[in-house]
Amino acid sequence: MTTETPARDAPVIVWFRRDLRLADNPALGHARATGRPVVPVYIHDEGGLVRRAGAASLWWLDGSLRALAADLAGRGAPLILRRGDSEAELRRLIAETGAGTVFLNRLFEPGAWTRDADIAHGLKVEGVDCRGFNGTLLARPGSVLTGSGGPYKVFTPFLKALLAVAEPPPPMPAPATIPGVQGLSSDILDDWSLRPTRPDWAVGFGGTPGEAGADAALAAFVADGLKTYSRDRDFPATSATSQMSPHLHFGELSPWRAVDMARAAAAAGQVPGTEADKFVAQLAWRDFSAHLLHQFPAMAERAFRPDYDAMPWRDDPAGLAAWQAGRTGFPVVDAGMRQLWATGWMHNRVRMIVGSFLVKDLLIDWRTGERWFWKTLVDADPGNNIQNWQWIAGSGADAAPYFRVFNPVTQGEKFDADGRYVRTWVPELERLPDRWLHAPWTAPPEVLRQAGVRLGHDYPRPIVDHAEARLRALEALRSVNQARATAD
Ligand code: FAD
Repeated sequence: MTTETPARDAPVIVWFRRDLRLADNPALGHARATGRPVVPVYIHDEGGLVRRAGAASLWWLDGSLRALAADLAGRGAPLILRRGDSEAELRRLIAETGAGTVFLNRLFEPGAWTRDADIAHGLKVEGVDCRGFNGTLLARPGSVLTGSGGPYKVFTPFLKALLAVAEPPPPMPAPATIPGVQGLSSDILDDWSLRPTRPDWAVGFGGTPGEAGADAALAAFVADGLKTYSRDRDFPATSATSQMSPHLHFGELSPWRAVDMARAAAAAGQVPGTEADKFVAQLAWRDFSAHLLHQFPAMAERAFRPDYDAMPWRDDPAGLAAWQAGRTGFPVVDAGMRQLWATGWMHNRVRMIVGSFLVKDLLIDWRTGERWFWKTLVDADPGNNIQNWQWIAGSGADAAPYFRVFNPVTQGEKFDADGRYVRTWVPELERLPDRWLHAPWTAPPEVLRQAGVRLGHDYPRPIVDHAEARLRALEALRSVNQARATAD
């Protein structure tokens, strides 16, 4: 490790993490603007403070890195892959290249934030400049604050403030060429085994990881789904949402690009302005989640509203296993859990239904659900996953009230009235008429027989009585409220 002043043509290291794109990438753009050679690196660091990525998300990462490597190589700067402790690998690369600068786009969740600050400090002491940019969120956490200078805990005023203060950055096209450094050693991506092989449980996964895939998905959504987004986005059988979540999670496009494209379509009269606004609001939920987690790091493990840590959660391994396997006996819940397992993605409405079922009908701790989603979602994201699970559990900022318990039967009837979603993922109920599809146990024996369904055999009987489970959940809440009242 050198402490000498770096040479004038010393390369700049661009440390890629969840910004796997060339366009609108502030770290890369600023590195390119120095005119120095650029050393792009991705470090697969599975230890330390940063939570290990889940298996489904690693599948997406593999595709995204392949696309990034090809894009960089085509412009002259091969992507260097290293595996191990981030700081040690960066230091090794600095020593190998004589680089005097490291540019990165910041990650704001607590573990990564602390790690990056420690690394930047350590490198600075040794004369290496480490500069961070915001390339992942619409606004940097800490830049959207209430009148009294505190963080927002309610979404609507946050959204208003965000739209008022956040400035769209000027577009930064992907550099046409990137002068690189040749001959550096790099791992081979295949050796990281990020994709499953035996068995290959990801055969049903969809989407096209990488920047080109992200651009294509956004363009398709803006041309098609956006005009009826607010009307259709709650119906899981329609492809009415953007399915941009893994692209956004891995930073394959800037969230501002999504905002700009939606607004441009509205300005051109291709979609109503209200639809573009609704989509922008959903993107703002992503910022809200990330800002909250950054400002309240304890919420990664503890209830945002501390009273809820006293919730008498149940230990129910059989219930949990049935939920994970999509065998609860509630068709819309089972369809969602099977979609998740088969594709690594689940529709937002169904995420809410299955989440509510776990924390309320089964009274299982939201952290258990959060961990399962972390493992199985290609878009598993620290801010979004934790914030949304706490929202479902009623323990989060601006959360759904705990006493609002989703009824899995009426939710199915309302949002999957023609049963297309359930029939896709729960084919054993395919021939059951719509009238009984969301509550097969209420169907007369003759109807079940004609549909070829033997309850408890082809398809499970419900593992809970929803009405009783709802009362049990409300009773649990009452005990929490009583504990609080006594403490007050
Ligand atoms: P669109 O409707 O097209 O929305 C566009 C983008 O806005 C999304 O890609 C996403 O980045 C953001 N967004 C939309 N809804 C939300 C929301 N409620 N909260 C935060 N951001 C949102 N999303 C993740 O990206 N990663 C997760 O790990 C995750 N876990 C969740 C867990 C639960 C229990 C629930 C209820 C929701 C979770 N979500 C998560 C939020 C949401 O379900 C997904 O972002 C959305 O379904 C992705 O589909 P889409 O891209 O088609 O969304």
